Amino acid sequence: MFQQWAADNGYAVLEINEESHLIDNSKFCVTIKDAKKISPTYPLRFRFRNCEICYQDFDITLGGFGYRCMTCRKFAEDVKQNK
Ligand SMILES: [Zn+2]
Repeated sequence: MFQQWAADNGYAVLEINEESHLIDNSKFCVTIKDAKKISPTYPLRFRFRNCEICYQDFDITLGGFGYRCMTCRKFAEDVKQNK
């Protein structure tokens, strides 16, 4: 399913990191919605993601969680602590 998506989006070969098992989709950052459409079972396999809160593209290997970038993740944690 990833390969079909890759072909549709202009990737000749879809690189998957052997260690992290993340898809190196550097040309096309995905939103959580896109990811679930492309792969309902593995929406967290994409390395380059679009934050669900601030809509900035980010690299999950540098920080963040799920489809939240580092900044928004921190914000979510702050909100939780204030409850
Ligand atoms: Zn964000």
